[in-house]
This record gives sequence, structure tokens and C-alpha cells, in this order.
Amino acid sequence: MSGSNHDHDIPHAEVTTNPEPSFFANRVRALENVLIKKGVCTSDEIARAIQETESRSPADGARVVARAWTDQVYKIRLLKNGKTAVAELGYAVTGDMPELVVVENTEKVRYLVVCTLCSCYPRWLLGRPPDWYKSLSYRSRAVSEPRVVMAEFGLNVDPGTTVEVLDSTADIRYLVIPQRPPKTHGFSEAQLANLVTRDSMVGTSNALSPT
Ligand code: FE
Repeated sequence: MSGSNHDHDIPHAEVTTNPEPSFFANRVRALENVLIKKGVCTSDEIARAIQETESRSPADGARVVARAWTDQVYKIRLLKNGKTAVAELGYAVTGDMPELVVVENTEKVRYLVVCTLCSCYPRWLLGRPPDWYKSLSYRSRAVSEPRVVMAEFGLNVDPGTTVEVLDSTADIRYLVIPQRPPKTHGFSEAQLANLVTRDSMVGTSNALSPT
């Protein structure tokens, strides 16, 4: 083949992994090495755990919420035992994972999830948390002034609605079922899942409106 589709005038940036790992990357690598050396886990197990977490995203949580919106009996199971109900949808759930407590927003009460200590989050279902979730500002203010924080996310909570802040721990993670948006009667689960955002499952936003 003469010439090439690849010929163009835009200069290439060199493709490379970061030549200088950050302080944290080095620290994590050192920790991995110690764990492997002591036989606590294998490098395969670490790679699998990373793969599992990286393969999860808010779309997975959205599937769970959409099912709960369309199947009242499923929702009851989900509220009663989050892990078991999520496993029903085919997600890998093991006994050593933190508990998943599922709560439901209503007209009377809304929930806001935080981890005041660090960044605990249902990663095994939603993937990695957003950066703001890990910020000191969110972690402290979600507790001291949750309504103000919610307003900053564009969510003005009715004064008559109770706001409950849920502080995640190493043992317990939370998932919020946002209120099902109006005018979604007859929507399929897939259509509904498209309305469920990451933030709506943390409690800082509502689910999207279909219009
Ligand atoms: Fe934490």
C-alpha cells in the first residue's frame, strides 16, 4: 500500500505511561508488594479487584434503581437487603463486601450520602466516587449544612422535607433510590435507567426529567 491513512500534519504526542509515578502511586505499589510478599494476596487477585472496580459505573446502579422503580416487590427486597437484591441482577456480590443499605427518597424525606472520614462509596456497584465526594469540603459540609450543599448542586429541598445525612463506613455503604420522575409512565427499564444519574444515587440531585 503506497502512502498511508496515517499521514497527516498533526504532530504526535508521545504515547507513554507516566514516567514519574506520583507519591501515591509509589506508596500503593509498595503496599501491594508487601501484601504479595507476606502472602496476604496475589498480584492476580489485586489485578482482578482493580478490573472489577474499573468495570463498574453509575450505569450499574441505575439498572438497580430502574428495576426498583418498576417492580415494587423487588424494591422491597432491595430496601431490606441491598447486596442480595443487587446480586439478583447478576452482579458479583460476596460476603466480605461492605453491607449495602438502600434508602428511598420520598416527599417526606431525602437522603444525602457522605463519608466524613475518607471516601467510602459503593464502588463495587457504582465504580469510583467523584472527586468532590472525597473533598474535605463536601465531607464536612454535607453534615453541617446539607441543605446548603444540596442547593449548590442545584437541588432546593422543600423546607417541609426532612434531610437525613448518611455517613458511610468501612462496613456500610449507601445507595439512594431517587424519586421516579413524573411523566415516565410506561417507560421501559432501560429508558428509566437513562434518567438515573450518579449524583441522584448519592442524593445531591434528582433523577433527570424525561423532557
Ligand atoms: Fe471512607
